[in-house]
Amino acid sequence: MSESSIPYKIYLSEDELPKAWYNLRSDMKNKPAPLLNPGTLQPMTAAELEGVFCDQLVKQELDNDTPFFEIPTEIRDFYKMYRPAPLVRAYCLEKELDTPAKIYYKFEGNNTSGSHKLNSAIAQAYYAKQQGLKGVTTETGAGQWGTALSMACGYLGLDCKVYMVKCSYEQKPFRREVMRVYGASVTPSPSETTEVGRKILKEFPGTTGSLGCAISEAVEAATSTPGYRYVLGSVLNQVLLHQSVIGLEAKTALDKYGIKPDIVIGCAGGGSNLGGLIAPFMGEKLRGEADYRIVAVEPASCPSFTRGEYRYDFCDTGMVCPLAKMYTLGSSFIPSADHAGGLRFHGMSSTLSQLYADGYMEAISVKQTDVFAAAEQFARVEGILPAPESSHAILAAMNEAKRCKETGEEKTILFGLTGTGYFDMVAYEKFHDGVMVDNVPSDEDIAKSLARLPKV
Ligand SMILES: *Cc1c(COP(=O)(O)O)cnc(C)c1O
Repeated sequence: MSESSIPYKIYLSEDELPKAWYNLRSDMKNKPAPLLNPGTLQPMTAAELEGVFCDQLVKQELDNDTPFFEIPTEIRDFYKMYRPAPLVRAYCLEKELDTPAKIYYKFEGNNTSGSHKLNSAIAQAYYAKQQGLKGVTTETGAGQWGTALSMACGYLGLDCKVYMVKCSYEQKPFRREVMRVYGASVTPSPSETTEVGRKILKEFPGTTGSLGCAISEAVEAATSTPGYRYVLGSVLNQVLLHQSVIGLEAKTALDKYGIKPDIVIGCAGGGSNLGGLIAPFMGEKLRGEADYRIVAVEPASCPSFTRGEYRYDFCDTGMVCPLAKMYTLGSSFIPSADHAGGLRFHGMSSTLSQLYADGYMEAISVKQTDVFAAAEQFARVEGILPAPESSHAILAAMNEAKRCKETGEEKTILFGLTGTGYFDMVAYEKFHDGVMVDNVPSDEDIAKSLARLPKV
């Protein structure tokens, strides 16, 4: 295929939308470690999980073997409103960097939630509706997940209660209003509305909150309200399963033109977009059919992969959730109020953690001032105003492309552009005014929270 015949945007037709999600775990020899009951330290049973999560999602969560799950027609119809998402050849960025590298990005920002999170939100809301539930509760960090879930619940007529990390609630009041447009109720977390929220406020007065705190509150709200279940926007196996739609589309688009990426890059908060983007590529790698370099990019302020430990830990600050084995900084670690709110989680997907431990992928951490500089350079040549989270992947992709310029290698780079940054203008303002700082935890900070990990 000659170079000039590859378009700026590779679109798929509706018929080419994936008909099934791909379960990466089915190809893993070492399966991700099971969730444990924090009381008994035994693997969580389906019956135990069904008290918190929808039944069908529990099945997906526990299934390490079924390779494909058919996407229900109703969900595919919803996907058709904003998918297939374009795969973009970043010709303008390549020119700007004067690199021989070929750069592609999968753009997931083409919906009101402004991120990939809608892919799992609609699936989770659909299964809640199928089960005849009244509503769902959740947490949101930067606000994208809460917005996505509000959209899905609004569409299906389900009630939606969102606990929003306090610093985001204050930084991004318009996010809250978008959620209310779709009928959700939004509470800043930690709050006085739950037992666990009151406890956290007592222990850490004035805290700006964290995803871990908000999860504790949302779980408590779900389990104490009849007809409600809790849903989570990242980290869990089921979420990675739904997000495989990103990677499946990207691979179909690349295959059309016979393009094989050398490097696949994604930002990593809880691991859902990265897990979804890499799924079919990692599957080939696990089956020994192809090789790819796979790189997770995390913020230096919350470096779970690069400075955490691979241990059992709570997914939440209130220590009410099951224990997950993952790279973690400790559930009592509260990251500084950095602007990539969606990446401020102390842990990481168990699936990606196992793959990282087994050497199938790499991880790097980057500082937010470098991230915003890359975000602006990208915005000016590619047009899209990227989310701070997504910009972690942009920075890493640009650095790889610059390395290619030095070595003369014509590598093909694929990265996930997970969303848009229209609600992050306070962060961009701080960057422009030169008042953005890089918050990097000290070894002592991390050791302190790691010392409090459960003894498993
Ligand atoms: C939530 C979010 C992320 C990080 O979450 P993952 O589960 O790690 O994918 C990245 N980018 C955007 C735009 C987000 O909203």
